[in-house]
Amino acid sequence: MLLHFIFVIKDKELGQRDKEYEYVKKMAQFFKVWIKAKFSLDFEIKCDEMITKPRIILQRLDTHSLLKDHTERGKDIFHFYLCHFRPLWTDCLCEGYHAENFCMLRWEKPKNENDVIAMAEKNCTAVSHEITHELLRQSGYKRYIEDVHEVWQKHLFGDLPFEQYGEDFKLTSKKPSFLALDTTLFGL
Ligand SMILES: [Zn+2]
Repeated sequence: MLLHFIFVIKDKELGQRDKEYEYVKKMAQFFKVWIKAKFSLDFEIKCDEMITKPRIILQRLDTHSLLKDHTERGKDIFHFYLCHFRPLWTDCLCEGYHAENFCMLRWEKPKNENDVIAMAEKNCTAVSHEITHELLRQSGYKRYIEDVHEVWQKHLFGDLPFEQYGEDFKLTSKKPSFLALDTTLFGL
């Protein structure tokens, strides 16, 4: 099984978001380990950048164009698009969307490209949110939307902290490089 992360950037930003892309590549490896620990699934990881050109409004890049790209690349591959735009429609509590073997998320560009904590808080957490929806769905878990959202609310508005992982992908109480949803509720 392959999990393919695609960092979608505007052509005018080419070469300007390399530090973020470095983080994306590390985060992708983190999720390989995280998915193995939480879902007992073995994924190979691939990372790419996808450059988008300015388009006229009628051809705006949206969820539909990403789903088309996903189909063309191969539906057997789990594609995760990290984008500069939000999904047109979503029932998610974050700016993400998921479908069969498909996730997308509006990647929030940090004010400072070296700000690992900001990327962990805004982006890495939401990636874990979308992956959890889709992998729970694939495993036949019925409340794959509601239960993820219940935990998410507790993370954002309750006193449940995100799980903190260090650069070595291990749980840490020190400064984290990666943050993820607490999956205890799902009985994995
Ligand atoms: Zn959601």
